[in-house]
Amino acid sequence: MKADTELLKSRSQRAKVIASYDQSDPLVVMQTNMPGHAKHHPAADVVLKTFKRVLEALYKQPVEIHRSSDGDYAIMPCKRDVERLKNTLVYLEENHPLGRLVDLDVHYLGEQHSRRDLGMPPRRCFLCEKDVNVCRREGNHSVESLVNHFDDTVRAFLKRALAKEAIHALRRELFTYPCFGLVSHRDSGIHTDMNISHFLSAFEILKEAFETYLSYGLHKGFSLSTLREQGKRYELTLLKTVGANTHKGAHYLFGLILPFFARSVMEGNGREAFLEALKKAASTFESEDLAEQKTPESTGEKAYQSYRVRGIRGEIAEGLPSIYAWYPGAHLSDLEKLIQIMMRLDDTTLLKGEKGLLEDVKRCMREYIGNPSPEMEKKLDCLKKNVSPGGAADMLALVFFLERSDYLLE
Ligand SMILES: [Zn+2]
Repeated sequence: MKADTELLKSRSQRAKVIASYDQSDPLVVMQTNMPGHAKHHPAADVVLKTFKRVLEALYKQPVEIHRSSDGDYAIMPCKRDVERLKNTLVYLEENHPLGRLVDLDVHYLGEQHSRRDLGMPPRRCFLCEKDVNVCRREGNHSVESLVNHFDDTVRAFLKRALAKEAIHALRRELFTYPCFGLVSHRDSGIHTDMNISHFLSAFEILKEAFETYLSYGLHKGFSLSTLREQGKRYELTLLKTVGANTHKGAHYLFGLILPFFARSVMEGNGREAFLEALKKAASTFESEDLAEQKTPESTGEKAYQSYRVRGIRGEIAEGLPSIYAWYPGAHLSDLEKLIQIMMRLDDTTLLKGEKGLLEDVKRCMREYIGNPSPEMEKKLDCLKKNVSPGGAADMLALVFFLERSDYLLE
């Protein structure tokens, strides 16, 4: 009884909020179809935040999210033709992977414009395809089965969407130019043993690997040792298929980050909690990696043995300081973002036999940012011809990933 009163109260509160907006132009009201009356269910939050992004990108209008015990909702005033707007919203409801989980309604001049006004059939129940109102009225499904379906749909979306974003980020980094002596679409930089084709040929396997790691994070109770074993298998497959060591660092970086990112999103934890969980896992990985290395093989392993430079492992264990010291940096160009990373990161790919080059590069980047004089430009040009900051490039790809995905951690 108390719950019912509460529900009626929050519904009338929502009606008041909607009525308080000027409706001389259409108003989009969006609410998830979260079954039951769970407050702030994290999966429902994913749906709301994702459609906020979609609508803001489509209509260039800010979407405002309102918290309510009847389920959160969002409102966007939109100066568009009401019929065309409703048509677009119905299209999204029918075709976006999360469209079945959301109602995108239009209010205009004090009235709600429904599908029926456009001569469209009512929405289908997401479990049995009958008219959703019939299923609701007749109580055809248990709340539990509806919630499970809701959560599974969100998990499937996150797995596909985040893996796609990670690949997109790596591809964007590959097509970033100027980029010092890294491989790009323009040339192979200082590399003679690989070119862009090697990099492109890795993406199919990487996508499969990333989806696997994401699904660990999206389901409760995955173990670090499972991630580690699977990671080693994919690392071997990559090396065999590509025939060059193109993505060892990027695979390690994204392989460790993606499951923790996905888990934080699915559990409704913010950026801080994500970084804490990630730091803990990275520290475990780092000590296990070092314990395993009897004879160091890669540049990173040798670097640690010779100079105690921790590279990507230490960077993740410290919570990604080479990014979060300046991120998001929307005003920076891609090259400037790379320089921001290079001046901070212990990039072990710059340690070939001696530590001097890494220190030189970091100092030069710091001086350049502090005072981009013609003399510094000259120094930078010289470095551009002679160094290939592979570790910093992986971090730049991570920045591209975060720029498009970390709205989910807000
Ligand atoms: Zn049904």
